[in-house]
Amino acid sequence: MVFNIKPYERKIFELIQESASELNVPVYVVGGYVRDRLLSRESKDLDVVCVGDGISLAEQLASKLRPTPYIAVYRRFGTAMIRHQELEVEFVGARKESYSLDSRKPAVENGTLEDDQNRRDFTINALAVSLNEDDYGRIIDSFNGFYDLEHKIIRTPLNPDITFSDDPLRMMRAIRFATQLDFTIEEKTLKSIIKNKQRINIVSKERISVELEKIIMSDRPAKGFKLLFDTGLLQIIFPEMAALQGVEIQNNIGHKDNFYHTLEVLENVCKESNDLWLRWAAILHDIAKPPTKRFYPNLGWTFHGHEALGAAMVPRIFKKLKLPLDTKMKYVQKLVLLHLRPIALTNELVTDSAVRRLLFDAGEDIDDLMTLCKADITSKNEGKVNRYKENYKVLMEKIKEVEEKDHLRNWQPPISGDEIMDIFKLPPSREVGILKTAIREAILDGEIPNEYDAAYHFMMQKAKELSMVNIK
Ligand code: ATP
Repeated sequence: MVFNIKPYERKIFELIQESASELNVPVYVVGGYVRDRLLSRESKDLDVVCVGDGISLAEQLASKLRPTPYIAVYRRFGTAMIRHQELEVEFVGARKESYSLDSRKPAVENGTLEDDQNRRDFTINALAVSLNEDDYGRIIDSFNGFYDLEHKIIRTPLNPDITFSDDPLRMMRAIRFATQLDFTIEEKTLKSIIKNKQRINIVSKERISVELEKIIMSDRPAKGFKLLFDTGLLQIIFPEMAALQGVEIQNNIGHKDNFYHTLEVLENVCKESNDLWLRWAAILHDIAKPPTKRFYPNLGWTFHGHEALGAAMVPRIFKKLKLPLDTKMKYVQKLVLLHLRPIALTNELVTDSAVRRLLFDAGEDIDDLMTLCKADITSKNEGKVNRYKENYKVLMEKIKEVEEKDHLRNWQPPISGDEIMDIFKLPPSREVGILKTAIREAILDGEIPNEYDAAYHFMMQKAKELSMVNIK
């Protein structure tokens, strides 16, 4: 393993050394940056610890940099941050932390480098590199973090019960790093997560969501969700997802385990897209299967309406997990609601009008919906998977054909509600809605082409029919 640094970073390190020696404080690079450079991973954040005042050191460095960098000083926390070129450098004085049982907020006092390493979460995050003149570049590895990096192990530097009890978010972080780096959580550390899982309740939902998002954005998030489930954390932080796990058998008939199915769908989506919200749609697409599950002796297991109930559950879940309640949520809701539609189309003779309706309902999200649907084709029966994939291909071609012909993406019917009110001198009313819907349905059904003149003519006809009863 080599410590790979860029020439620009080397220059910054030399200036930090110069600044620290002028102030006569020992200084070290610590944490994630050291870990990532040893693993040849990208990282933009650089944490610098000095045995002394971090803010003074940051100011000293800032005075040497050209152009003058952006510097943020947080006096209350005794930290400062410098943004220069592509790097964000955080400065802090070495500290010692002590926790009490009922709170996550530690009492903090100045400490040595060793104290500072002791308060780190994992051995691989507790490595430090000296920037001091007499041993510049030496790696200080008090907890065998180097060994753990080489052997892909997540392990706490101290007794894991203490590390996790002090800040229970570290349990999520252990699983996040295991997922991101494809490492294994060492046995004692893993057992301690299981033992301390209830302590996660004292951590804020926002901090939990940050870690959950990092798990979801990993290359292979299924590993993280399995670990969350196996340790019991998922049942506490996201019980709706944990409820997907399990197979029930009646009259010798079982159904698929929807938790592992969901993870397969999620990983299939991950191969196609880095979009967080499409990944969330994969996680939530079957979320209402447990509450809609029924067994009928003649039919077997059914999950009728799980797409509609699932869409209805999305806002509650987003709110609980502190996810944004805006267009992102609406997007996820829409995909959950529509996730069965394309597959239903592949089961029957696909008509133009059914495809038009799908295009209209999905709007600009049709491609993502199709990605989700394709990802949803999971079965142990290879023949079935191939048949579905073949049907899916036919449907994609049909969608392309109808789209080219009808231009339905982001489609708005050619006559707006305002125009209808204007033409018939109507206030906003039921009648306007009736006419608008009639035009839209006629176009989607292929009764009239998607053009203004045809729509206008159709509307006048319809209005005549209606005027006998409704429009005066
Ligand atoms: P990433 O950059 O991938 O988000 P990271 O852990 O490298 O992860 P930070 O979360 O900024 O980045 O943390 C920087 C360092 O601070 C870590 O490497 C670790 O040493 C320490 N650290 C961060 N959070 C905790 C925590 N909850 N408990 C103990 N140490 C922590």
